[in-house]
Amino acid sequence: MGKSYAKARELDQSDALSGFRDEFYVHDETIYFDGNSLGLLSKRAEKTTLDALESWKQYGIDGWTEGETPWFYLSEKLGTKTAPLIGARPSEVVTTGSTTVNLHQLVSTFYQPEGSKTKILADELAFPTDIYALQSQLQLRGYDPEEHLVFVKSRDGQTFHEEAIIEKMTEDIALIVLPSVLYRSGQILPMKRLTEAAHDRNIAIGFDLCHSIGVFPHHLHDWGVDFAVWCNYKYLNAGPGAVGGLFVHQKHGHKAPGLTGWFGSRKDKQFDMAHDMTPAEDAGAYQLGTPHILSAAPLIGSLELFEEAGAERLRKKSLALTRYMMELVESKLQGMGFTIANPREDDRRGGHVYLEHREAARICKALKAEGVIPDFRAPRGIRLAPVPFYNTFTEVWHVIDRLQMIMEKETYKKYENKRGVVA
Ligand SMILES: *Cc1c(COP(=O)(O)O)cnc(C)c1O
Repeated sequence: MGKSYAKARELDQSDALSGFRDEFYVHDETIYFDGNSLGLLSKRAEKTTLDALESWKQYGIDGWTEGETPWFYLSEKLGTKTAPLIGARPSEVVTTGSTTVNLHQLVSTFYQPEGSKTKILADELAFPTDIYALQSQLQLRGYDPEEHLVFVKSRDGQTFHEEAIIEKMTEDIALIVLPSVLYRSGQILPMKRLTEAAHDRNIAIGFDLCHSIGVFPHHLHDWGVDFAVWCNYKYLNAGPGAVGGLFVHQKHGHKAPGLTGWFGSRKDKQFDMAHDMTPAEDAGAYQLGTPHILSAAPLIGSLELFEEAGAERLRKKSLALTRYMMELVESKLQGMGFTIANPREDDRRGGHVYLEHREAARICKALKAEGVIPDFRAPRGIRLAPVPFYNTFTEVWHVIDRLQMIMEKETYKKYENKRGVVA
């Protein structure tokens, strides 16, 4: 196994976070490197989900106000607990909706076309749902997306130059929506710099944090970001379809929500049942209807783990895992047709390594047959996300070793080079 394996063993032995692996349901016969699509279940998340069921069992309707975690205040409470992960004030965050729904909500709130300032700026590598939401928001206001949705172009098909983004912030742009981390290449966009540039030009800016929340610390409040949205089922490990989250900067505290629903009411007014709504005076105002308690409950336990591990320590280990992986790719997979397509600098890359290969689809199938769960992105992408909570350096070693074996023995040729329905 040699020197590289010994190094993995050493890194595992000096890993301050190694104890957290036992907090998760990790299957020893498979290596799970897909925490950037769906994080694994933790025992804590399981417990808080069962607690929510217990409340229902015990209290029925009174679960809204009784029990350890009364449901009526859960969305705000989880917002408060999420705030440290993104550098927000507690009142700026609420756990609600999903990335797509929250984007609809905040674009309908922040997109305020005026005169010739009517366009929305996005990026041509954006996650499709973000683009669909922007297109329909424009259509609802009577604007043609063909003309009013403009895109920053990527020169290499993977990443963006921040200067190229800033150049597109022209007079006619009313709103900018960008990812904090690109979902394929894992490139981090410099949120602070882009926010300053947008505000210098009097443009509102929001970020999709799906691939950065839980990966590295943010300072959304200090950076002055106008709004942000995210999901909690990826790096936050809150389960399939978990309730998402949103951030609205305090300076917009009194901005009327574009979409309104009774759960956006001031808590003490909601049950007055009046037809003129009194919105909450914080991010809670952007909620719509009754919260999905059973899909929010896992997040209670999950966030406890973040509090205990600390965002800085998690980031440090994540960078070490992915750095070690890139070293192994370069030493063991040389000349096999792989390219590392994520940025190399620590301050420019997110939580996963992004490999490209012509045969990526069937290489991923061969990896699965070898007990490794990767994440395929058509047409050529293999995302490998070692999660600092539960993955180890020796697992990284084994994944690259199996990849080497698959390429040398050409076992991937047994499979069709085509994606599955969900990939
Ligand atoms: C995962 C992901 C989404 C998913 O949105 P949902 O509304 O949760 O389905 C959106 N945007 C990005 C960048 C993502 O990575």
